[in-house]
Amino acid sequence: MDFDLSPEQQMMADTAIQISARFDPEYWRDKDESGTYPSEFIAEIGKQGFFGLPVPEAYGGMGLGLTELSVAMEALCRGGGGGGPALGYLFGLLGNLSVLHHGNEEQKRRYLPDMATGKKISAFALSEPEAGTNSLNITTFARHEGDEFVINGGKWFITNIENSDALLLVARTEKPQEGKSKASGISLFLIDLPQAGITHTPIPKHGFNYYKSNQVFIEDLRVHESCLLGDEGRGFYNLLGTLNPERVLIAAGAVGTARLALSRAVIYAGERNVFGVPIGMHQAVQHPLAAAYAKVESAWLMVLKAATLNDIDNTDKAAGDFANMAKFVAVESCIEACYHAMQTYGGAGYAREYHQERWWREAQLFRLAPLTQQITLNYIGEHVLGLPKSY
Ligand SMILES: Cc1cc2nc3c(=O)[nH]c(=O)nc-3n(C[C@H](O)[C@H](O)[C@H](O)COP(=O)(O)OP(=O)(O)OC[C@H]3O[C@@H](n4cnc5c(N)ncnc54)[C@H](O)[C@@H]3O)c2cc1C
Repeated sequence: MDFDLSPEQQMMADTAIQISARFDPEYWRDKDESGTYPSEFIAEIGKQGFFGLPVPEAYGGMGLGLTELSVAMEALCRGGGGGGPALGYLFGLLGNLSVLHHGNEEQKRRYLPDMATGKKISAFALSEPEAGTNSLNITTFARHEGDEFVINGGKWFITNIENSDALLLVARTEKPQEGKSKASGISLFLIDLPQAGITHTPIPKHGFNYYKSNQVFIEDLRVHESCLLGDEGRGFYNLLGTLNPERVLIAAGAVGTARLALSRAVIYAGERNVFGVPIGMHQAVQHPLAAAYAKVESAWLMVLKAATLNDIDNTDKAAGDFANMAKFVAVESCIEACYHAMQTYGGAGYAREYHQERWWREAQLFRLAPLTQQITLNYIGEHVLGLPKSY
């Protein structure tokens, strides 16, 4: 059993840390306050090949696995970005992974080289007002008409569509039928943006203001049938293949964010004097940080295990089990770490100047998206513990 990163993985983490040092917490605070897209950061990680990590060399990438992606994600967040890099990197990667796993040769040639360098960024549109946790409830419908699909419906919380060149859209191509699984009849589309039939408007929100999350309206959108990614009607099953990586990557981002918040809080606790002594001398300040640190470090081991299992065989049940467990513990430990890190600063923790309040806001999203903690617990209860399905 070897708990160390390989030299190649370590080099990747070092590069990510160097990039993050240039895009420091001040960079992300300014972007959050002004609600501006971190285009310089996204361009830089694209140039350095981070979007191309999972893409085979034949399409301009490096052909590496989820372990390397997780190492990169953790380091980008830990190095200074906090949660900032997590969503931008994750959503870009979802496009790559979907084309990689379900695209035909033409789609791979058309999209992967530019996706691998970050020249083409994609957004992911699954959620609808009546279909968040219950994603099988989607009603956005794509009607096959000749060699085209005509798509109508709506999505919400679709993040970064305004800066994206492609949209991974999930739509029904068949109405749910009695006696048939609700998961069948759902299809995946990869659609170039912009399109006249797609309009969007941002939903004002609590954090992550670098990326807008949008209500999306789809009206009589006509796309050629070659936009189908994978087989018609099998989209939901195909999507499952990217759900485990998504969970592991958000867990890695949560660990990186937690480590950054804690490291800053430890420095502050050592330097801030109240009653003539550093506040870090007091166990009421020291113990919560120590407990959170221990939990974050154990969460990181879970993330590496989940990533490794997915790299060995992503269809194996253990790969799904550990992806869910890693997501759950990493996010819980991140929330605990960010909470105590912020409290360490007293009133200053509430000020934007010190960044902790931003990381705290970002940690809350990890609890909700891409899937809620309750849903990971449903999975663990049912599939790991073997308890009856609770809903
Ligand atoms: C900032 C942000 C960005 C997002 N970006 C995207 C994006 O880019 N693309 C996209 O497709 N989606 C995106 N989402 C949507 C996100 O995936 C959903 O918000 C999430 O899946 C939860 O769905 P919901 O909000 O509809 O909650 P609901 O489904 O309404 O659930 C409400 C609450 O009830 C709980 N609950 C529901 N059913 C059960 C059950 N059976 N057992 C236990 N608890 C249950 C849920 O866990 C949750 O706490 C984003 C969301 C946010 C907030």
